[in-house]
Amino acid sequence: MTVSTEELLLSRIRDVADHPIPGVTFKDITPLLADPEAFAALTGALAELCVRYGATKIVGLEARGFILAAPVAVTAKLGFVPVRKAGKLPGATLSQAYELEYGTAEIEVHAEDLATGDRVMVIDDVLATGGTAEASLELIRRAGAEVAGVAVLMELGFLGGRARLEPALRGAPLDAL
Ligand code: AMP
Repeated sequence: MTVSTEELLLSRIRDVADHPIPGVTFKDITPLLADPEAFAALTGALAELCVRYGATKIVGLEARGFILAAPVAVTAKLGFVPVRKAGKLPGATLSQAYELEYGTAEIEVHAEDLATGDRVMVIDDVLATGGTAEASLELIRRAGAEVAGVAVLMELGFLGGRARLEPALRGAPLDAL
């Protein structure tokens, strides 16, 4: 990705102070999604990573990961698999609970959507603590599939997500555009 593309993407991310709770700066990607040039540049860059790492399937993490992963899957000509919050998927699922700062959360995938032989790229907008991405890697491996990598638009470095995710990556790449 060129410096000017990086600058374009950065300029389309809006910081919203104290959302959803006091003390959190929310990274709002809606200005980026509303700009066709920026959205296409982001989709293209993510699709390029999927091809580079030999992915055969794309997992998007609910909810903003869906918005990015779906056009990436179409661009890279790969299937899209949603990883959703617990209780949303209608079919037989695999579930994975994970720790939040306060309490726990749970995500699920349709068991039939991933199988042995798949190389899966995980896509999301923001890597914060890394808990959601870490749980998604666990789900992918429990389904018998392999992890091709994790790609996000941005990483909030001060939250240490990369370090948390490192063991679960088992050498697979983590790219933050
Ligand atoms: P985590 O599991 O802590 O890495 O959180 C990742 C998920 O929470 C992603 O799906 C993000 O969309 C969302 N998220 C966490 N922190 C932020 C933030 N500051 N701004 C926007 N989204 C966030």
